[in-house]
Amino acid sequence: EELRGLLLSRIQDVPDYPKPGVMFKDITPLLADPAAFTALTDALATLAARHRADKVVGLEARGFILGAPAAVRAGIGFVPVRKAGKLPGATLGQAYDLEYGTAEIEIHADALAPGDRVLVIDDVLATGGTAEASLQLIRRAGAQVAGVAVLLELGFLQGRSRLLGSLDSAPLEAL
Ligand code: 5GP
Repeated sequence: EELRGLLLSRIQDVPDYPKPGVMFKDITPLLADPAAFTALTDALATLAARHRADKVVGLEARGFILGAPAAVRAGIGFVPVRKAGKLPGATLGQAYDLEYGTAEIEIHADALAPGDRVLVIDDVLATGGTAEASLQLIRRAGAQVAGVAVLLELGFLQGRSRLLGSLDSAPLEAL
């Protein structure tokens, strides 16, 4: 609808980035537009409230930019999921497969309380590997996944079907 049109109009397609054949969705024009960024933040905060989330978990790095203001607006805490080696405290880690090789993400082991309801926020759902690993981390931390919210879902990469098993009936929403 109206919000979606505004948001999509502020996302720039960049061909052959980060490598030939890839069409990268660049959200920096949206971030630079206060009307669009505010509308996005409000929409994400509304989802957090609707799902009765206690925490927003943002996925490095653009999930931080979108997730942190949404958490503030919703009046709940923000928890970063980072690439391995960046968090100073005791962590839980989860490895996942990339096209070539593997990656690992981490969360502070004490960042979530048992029973916390978590809304996961990222900018783009591509293959779903990052989101899938984050859901495993959240559950291992003893918390509950209230939902996954992304700005954009790249449908042709089938991230939604990859995530299905780990969603465990939590909603996956693209704006
Ligand atoms: P996935 O694990 O779903 O394959 O990749 C998702 C991660 O890669 C997200 O954290 C997202 O930020 C990043 N990503 C993949 N493709 C794009 C893209 O076209 N645009 C942006 N902004 N991020 C992307």
